[in-house]
Amino acid sequence: MKVLVLEHSRLFQKMLTELLEELDCEVDCVRSGTEGKAKLEKESYSLILAGQHIFDESGADFATYCSSKQVSCPIILLTSEPNETLLKNARNAGITDIFPKSNFTYLRESLRYYIEGQTNIDVKGGRVIYIEDSRSVAHVVINYLKKINLDVTHFTNAETALKSIISEDYDLVITDVILDGTMSGTSLVRMIRAQNSHISEIPILAMTGHDDPQRRIELYHAGINDYVTKPPIEEELASRVYNLITNKRLLDQVREQQKSLYDMAMKDQLTSCHNRHSLAEYAPKYIHDAIKYNFPLSMMILDLDHFKEINDQHGHTTGDVVLSSIGELLMASCKQGDFVARIGGEEFAIMLPHYSASEAMAKSEEIRAMIELRKPNGLKITASIGVATLSDIHNENYDALYKDADQAVYLSKENGRNCITLYSDEAVEKTAANII
Ligand code: GH3
Ligand code: MG
Ligand code: MG
Ligand code: MG
Repeated sequence: MKVLVLEHSRLFQKMLTELLEELDCEVDCVRSGTEGKAKLEKESYSLILAGQHIFDESGADFATYCSSKQVSCPIILLTSEPNETLLKNARNAGITDIFPKSNFTYLRESLRYYIEGQTNIDVKGGRVIYIEDSRSVAHVVINYLKKINLDVTHFTNAETALKSIISEDYDLVITDVILDGTMSGTSLVRMIRAQNSHISEIPILAMTGHDDPQRRIELYHAGINDYVTKPPIEEELASRVYNLITNKRLLDQVREQQKSLYDMAMKDQLTSCHNRHSLAEYAPKYIHDAIKYNFPLSMMILDLDHFKEINDQHGHTTGDVVLSSIGELLMASCKQGDFVARIGGEEFAIMLPHYSASEAMAKSEEIRAMIELRKPNGLKITASIGVATLSDIHNENYDALYKDADQAVYLSKENGRNCITLYSDEAVEKTAANII
């Protein structure tokens, strides 16, 4: 970026030059408005930084000169003591902004922010869906968006655009309001916000030629994030797009971090099954739903047989491989909605909504047989399984259901392991009698 500095003090000129060069700017310094005009005759600049004296006597003259020569670059006034007359003259003369120069640190950061904002509008790639029925406007806007490294998919009507928004992964929607087809831009915004997925959160920038407040309010109520009038000014469009995409990325990052923290807290690291905390959080909800909607629910607890010997004979690392292989098998053999958790060293629990006692027993037998056949690392592994079914007699809460399934595992161990047992009061009584 090429910058013209009009500043009387040589020291301040030097300080500004160093700062601007740090920001990769090319700098020309002059000390008066007359010299400034001479420079503007020969060169073109992207920014003019002008000391206050430029707007004293000769200020109006300098500014008039700039507008007569159609110098369209921003002019920033640097002032040590802003006073009303000066500010008024400066505003009338068409300056862009006023930065105080009494605090150099503040001035440095303001300039850095300003210049980086001008030069660094680069969202580092990103996918934009753009809906505009006027080909000529679309041509211009697509060019602007491509200049800031965005990948643009263009549609002329909202119906087909909506299908694409649902099936593809975009970072931003830019939509015109009046479109080809039966759906308006405003309806498109409403349809996006009504989606029952992360798609409803995509940022939306509306663009229209009719800049009336009522329409703007209507668009904001429908759910747009920002608004720009047509024809858009390139820098304004770039800045708004940059803000929307940057905010979306930050939000995505926060969500990912939240998810990974949640996974760390709720998932078992070795097997990727849920963990005990997760089971304790979700199981009561499963039970509540089964009672409320009157469907059967069963719980299976599974304990690997003689696992200590596996560790003792083949080492703890092999033991871990076995555990993760069994976890994988359990997750693969359960359908969506079933809930598989590793609840202890070599113990797993599975919540089986919509499984009656006989269906849960059939499922347990299937799992028992698959474990026996699995042979992780060539080792024969077996499991003892206990099943309990939610009944309105005595186990209508998680602790009671868990206790019953656990008792049933104990019975399977008693019965020689590698077998399944359905909890019932009689089964428990019979085993108790045998033990006595
Ligand atoms: P039973 O048939 O009665 O269940 O016998 P068992 O040996 O499986 O039962 P026990 O409770 O005596 O031993 C469980 C073993 O599981 C002891 C422990 O070394 C092992 N274990 C627990 N957590 C892990 C783990 O994360 N990795 C490995 N490799 N072993 C584990
Ligand atoms: Mg239109
Ligand atoms: Mg155990
Ligand atoms: Mg065991």
